[in-house]
Amino acid sequence: MLTRTPRACYTGDMLLTFLGGVGTVTGSRTLVEPESGAGASGRLLIDCGLFQGPREVRGRNWEPFPIDPATIDAVILSHAHLDHCGYLPALVRDGFSGPVHCSPNTAALVPIILRDSARLQEEDAAWARRKGFSRHADPRALYDAEDAEAAIALLQPVEFGHEFTPVPGLVARLDVGGHILGSSTVTLTETSRERTVVFSGDLGRGNHPLLRPPAPPCAADAIVLESTYGDRSHADVDAELDEMARVITRTLKRGGTVVIPAFAVDRTEVLLRALHTLLIQQRIPLAPIHVDSPMALAALRVYLDAIRDADPEILPSILAEGPEAIDLPHLHEATTPEQSMALDRGGARIIVSASGMASGGRVTHHLKALLPDRDTCVLLVGFQAVGTAGRMLLDGAHEIKIHGQYVPVRAEIVEIEAFSVHADADELIAWLASCHPLPTQVFVNHGEPDAAAALADRVRRDLDIAVDVPEAGERVRV
Ligand SMILES: [Zn+2]
Repeated sequence: MLTRTPRACYTGDMLLTFLGGVGTVTGSRTLVEPESGAGASGRLLIDCGLFQGPREVRGRNWEPFPIDPATIDAVILSHAHLDHCGYLPALVRDGFSGPVHCSPNTAALVPIILRDSARLQEEDAAWARRKGFSRHADPRALYDAEDAEAAIALLQPVEFGHEFTPVPGLVARLDVGGHILGSSTVTLTETSRERTVVFSGDLGRGNHPLLRPPAPPCAADAIVLESTYGDRSHADVDAELDEMARVITRTLKRGGTVVIPAFAVDRTEVLLRALHTLLIQQRIPLAPIHVDSPMALAALRVYLDAIRDADPEILPSILAEGPEAIDLPHLHEATTPEQSMALDRGGARIIVSASGMASGGRVTHHLKALLPDRDTCVLLVGFQAVGTAGRMLLDGAHEIKIHGQYVPVRAEIVEIEAFSVHADADELIAWLASCHPLPTQVFVNHGEPDAAAALADRVRRDLDIAVDVPEAGERVRV
């Protein structure tokens, strides 16, 4: 669907088609086609994310990919979160066979994410089949373990700052994104006219407790800017940590369980760092801390390796501390389903479990068992997309539907914003303003409509740059 062309067509332009991550924070997918000579000479996909959240958004995963996957020459992944890489197995199954470029740490994390996603897809389909609560007579998985392995086999790590040619006519470079380990901004330069586009990917805040801040964008004609928190300012981190210490202390003192739904990758490590700090400072009582997510434990090992190997993404202060910075001595790892189920009996403990928006994974079982208990506290520490169980809890739902059953919510629900690893509106504007000279166009994506619109207004007002909030399927020329 060609909805808008901002100006005349030049040979040497790049065509961008926004296939996902528009009007929503999930399903990031942008197609880039450089034009050289007679027409488009290659097709490059930036991110290949899964749609998550309400049924109508998730349903988009089941629609045929808007272009034939076999005609895509290469993929670049900005980072390992599922909403940026989780559709890849389906793309490969449907014909894509090119390289998937990403940073070395993204290449270490993506296999963990995709294997877990395939397993969840298969388990959800089997569960729905058994319990009969799907609308479909024979619910099937979106993709399976074999599809995930085929996608993993295509990963090609590229060092930060190293230039490479993903498709003829385009030079690409990854720089530190500061959002999670391995996260990257992506710079694409069209070789014949030197037109440059920068993709922010998911952008870090610059105060990640473990990672170096995002690199400033290089001079670009256009920037594609995420807007997850485009209409918000993050709360003061120290005040939020105080609140977290108070909430954990009162829950443990009344004998309740603190359940923390957490994204397996990064959020778990950041949480462990915070718990480590609160314990050392004796701001919370000693209690068992359980990490109940095989995926989170696998990701934790990648972070520990990065610290041990003095990876350039890790903050020097954390390298000086060594792996103990996040490797708590009293950590209990729940690896088997039996160990996981044993946690549902409650009691004074802290459970960190995926998924982060409580939309799937083991945490849903803990919530089903512990939400009816007034002693429980659910700490929501990440972005909760509309339609997810996490968002419903945040919005004060009295009951939520888990695995086809309504579960009463009597637990205390507390939101702690200190752990956001997304830049807020001021931080996004500051990152954009650090581009010299300023770009002539900005495309605001990866945000719910209000957040994207608010950020677009700020870009226009504060920086006087032409800005567009693309619609799904919109095609633009830069
Ligand atoms: Zn992300």
